[in-house]
Amino acid sequence: MNDITPKGRAGEDGLIPVAGGWERGEGRLIRSVDPSDGSTVAEFHSASVEQVDRSVRAGLERVEDPGWRDLLPHQRARHLSRVADLLEERAETIAALQSSDTGKTLGESRALVASAAGTFRYFAAVLETEEGLLTPARGPYLSMSVHEPIGVVGAITPWNSPIASDAQKVAPALAAGNAVVLKPAEVAPLTALELARAVNDAGVPPELVSVVPGSGSVVGDALVRHPLVGKVALTGGTTTGQRIGEVAAQKVMPVSMELGGKSPTVVFEDADIEQALAGVLYGVFSSSGQSCVAGSRVFVHESIHDTFVERLCAAAERLRIGPGSDPATQVAPMVSFAHRDHVASMVDAAVAEGARVRTGGAVPAEGPLAQGAYYPPTVIDGVANSARICQEEIFGPVAVVLPFGSEKDLVEQANDSVYGLACGLWTADYRRAWRVARRIHAGTVWVNTYKQLSVSTPFGGTKLSGLGREKGRSGLLAYTRQKSVYLGLDENPLPWAGDALT
Ligand code: NAP
Repeated sequence: MNDITPKGRAGEDGLIPVAGGWERGEGRLIRSVDPSDGSTVAEFHSASVEQVDRSVRAGLERVEDPGWRDLLPHQRARHLSRVADLLEERAETIAALQSSDTGKTLGESRALVASAAGTFRYFAAVLETEEGLLTPARGPYLSMSVHEPIGVVGAITPWNSPIASDAQKVAPALAAGNAVVLKPAEVAPLTALELARAVNDAGVPPELVSVVPGSGSVVGDALVRHPLVGKVALTGGTTTGQRIGEVAAQKVMPVSMELGGKSPTVVFEDADIEQALAGVLYGVFSSSGQSCVAGSRVFVHESIHDTFVERLCAAAERLRIGPGSDPATQVAPMVSFAHRDHVASMVDAAVAEGARVRTGGAVPAEGPLAQGAYYPPTVIDGVANSARICQEEIFGPVAVVLPFGSEKDLVEQANDSVYGLACGLWTADYRRAWRVARRIHAGTVWVNTYKQLSVSTPFGGTKLSGLGREKGRSGLLAYTRQKSVYLGLDENPLPWAGDALT
């Protein structure tokens, strides 16, 4: 076992935060594996369906307790700020834990912990400054619209940026006055436990955040179906979103969904090529391509296509592949051996359909990289946008390059996708950038930059990439129910009853 797991924490004592206390999971054994060498990081039992039920009930009871319910916004905000402080104080421990759980570079893990702390700080500030709405009256009354907590939110997160995805849901849900039952991905559950510990230590009543590690099909499903869960916030794949959406429709329950993508990155003929190359490399190969916004379809104007592909391949071959613990590493292992094999099988299938591998495309067969779940940065061309490799999310370090001619051709190809998450445009012409940005189906468009994400800017997808937006000021309201209140001001009785009163 890796001694990175702090004593008395997940994997050492096997305890998980359930219904206000730390207890042993009653579900099946979970083994967290370091994908850089296959060693075990931690072992503990997942939550049972009964523990999910108790977590939801305890959360709801605490939400309705006047001791928490009646806190003024600035008082609740103070708790969130303390969580941010604790995450910052514990950043090195949490980052190391996340790196061994997921294989991520330490640099990326540190950035994700900083982002999680920033999210708590941001929603504390939003909570303190949020204003209500007096609506224009049409009679002798004061009319207003207020936002109230939903109750218990089920938060379900993936493995690719665990601490940041968890914070993106837990912070606004708590700020809005809810309890949260968080189900992290079974392959990367450790940082969710640390987040719960920070929330506890910040003085937030422990019933307000339970963590129920376990599989989506058992623990996740029980959470979504629970009759007292009032909203589900999911980040995950589109198929999972569709399954959860079916249950939500039966419950008439609000859901927000951050789902998959197949994002186009476009290099126009007038682009600054050095900047575009750096942007394409970062967009698709950072996080080993395990990013929902990975710029995995690279459209290059036909006049510069061949030279751009050559330079892209040469640069991809110079990227440093290695364990997340090596500060020089740019491309770390995939999250698991199973996922590495899935990525490899998608590339192999594309080749069988006639795609050309320009660089990469094979699992390392020897040397230290053969011991870990590594897959090299891969560039593919020679396929049409209709090919499976261009239409299906790979979630690995694989870029497909496609030529385009006119702007119309580009927009048609880029939008010919079931997804609509993000898009990158590289051009010196800002009028064109604006025109194309407005026509592309995407929740986020980056112009002459890529993968810049800010908690103060709404994020989400269109089409099969998602429903609703996280982050930004409105991210808080997504965890509330709206209620209208009329305060009568008339000194006289309502006129309708007329003489009936005398
Ligand atoms: P996933 O398989 O959909 O899993 C996401 C979460 O949902 C996991 O915790 C999973 O549990 C759980 N789950 C699965 N089936 C469920 C069900 N029937 N009921 C309730 N919960 C269920 O996705 P992933 O492989 O972890 O993550 C990669 C995907 O997430 C990619 O498609 C990526 O694009 C997407 N993603 C989107 C964004 C965004 O902001 N748009 C950000 C990051 C990732 P288990 O895995 O533990 O079984």
